[in-house]
Amino acid sequence: MQLVVLGSGTCAPTLKRSTACYYVHISGQHILLDVGFGSIRRTLEAGIDYREIDFIIITHTHLDHVGDLAPLVMALRYTPGLKRQKPLTLVGPPGFKSYLHSFSDLTAKWFFKQDGFKVNIREADRETLRFTDWDLTAMPMLHSDAANGYRIESEDRVLAYSGDTGMCDQVISLVNHADLAILECSAPDEEPLEGHLTPSLAGRIAERGDCRKVLLSHFYPMMENIDVVGKARKYFRGEIETAEDFKQYAI
Ligand SMILES: [Zn+2]
Ligand SMILES: [Zn+2]
Repeated sequence: MQLVVLGSGTCAPTLKRSTACYYVHISGQHILLDVGFGSIRRTLEAGIDYREIDFIIITHTHLDHVGDLAPLVMALRYTPGLKRQKPLTLVGPPGFKSYLHSFSDLTAKWFFKQDGFKVNIREADRETLRFTDWDLTAMPMLHSDAANGYRIESEDRVLAYSGDTGMCDQVISLVNHADLAILECSAPDEEPLEGHLTPSLAGRIAERGDCRKVLLSHFYPMMENIDVVGKARKYFRGEIETAEDFKQYAI
């Protein structure tokens, strides 16, 4: 399993960190975990071929996680010379289907166009979806009305991704024994944001979940001058890294 961080930032734009987006390559399949605004450009900058994406897995419908979803589908439909045949599978939290249909009715009737490749939509609610050689488990996080965290499991590796969440029991289950857990880490311990984590909370979650390694991400600009790893280290004994756009990991 291969991971490339495409966006370690939030809705607050910075040049250094794009909005939430992670590329995962597993069993020959190309996956994006979240696709916030600006993500398509990040795929180009990282040398990832957006035309080959098979799955887009959305944690929740805040625009820093979903803003480039429709533009990506548009690019797949209308890039000159691209005759995509393979379906695109979208996975999201409860309510995701009606969100996409409302959006399509309003501005983007081409989204579900009949001629051309098919868009499959799966809503995942506390369940495991089985794909070729890998499983995707969705668990509800503590954030917006419907926000999922996900576990991607191959035969011998586990990648967990919290999306946005506050402290809750589910996020601890989500990261349980993960080889790599991507945990959001939006705000400083001294200025916590509701529905988000701080370095200390992320460290506690990684420790309680007994993760092998944690990748802290989703940083608001006020996190730039903070010793994020040092704060998390007080609680977690395993490996800790901060995500940076374009960093790559073999899991
Ligand atoms: Zn977010
Ligand atoms: Zn959010």
